[in-house]
Amino acid sequence: MQTLTLSPEQMESMRLHVEDRRPEEACGLLAGKGGHVQQVLPVTNQNHSAVSFRMDPLEQLRAFNWMDANGLDLVAIYHSHPAGPEAASPGNPAPSPTDIAEAAYPVVYIIWSRADGSWQAHAYSIQQGHGLEVELSIVRDQ
Ligand SMILES: [Zn+2]
Repeated sequence: MQTLTLSPEQMESMRLHVEDRRPEEACGLLAGKGGHVQQVLPVTNQNHSAVSFRMDPLEQLRAFNWMDANGLDLVAIYHSHPAGPEAASPGNPAPSPTDIAEAAYPVVYIIWSRADGSWQAHAYSIQQGHGLEVELSIVRDQ
């Protein structure tokens, strides 16, 4: 299984972002190198929707420019399912058909889903129309 390594602080930063945006879906980019996340870059969901997201294109461009300037790559994209995957079954952590269809980058896709009042994160590599689970390795002091 593929692994993505993050710090507890990066996980908490994403969790706070998706909670803050609830009931809308939240989204963002993770910059790093070779499967190790170094920076969480939240991006505005310009749909402001509970069931879909589209990254603000200007913020997304700024984030890519920041990565270039800092010698980092896009290693993952995250978004939340505050009420379920595009209004299917509540709290489902799996990529929705839309998520799979719109997975344009060869990176890890992290989905924060909310069930029973708490958030959990699952990660996937989306290839040929399927989401393969990726292990999230939470490591202190990378
Ligand atoms: Zn989704």
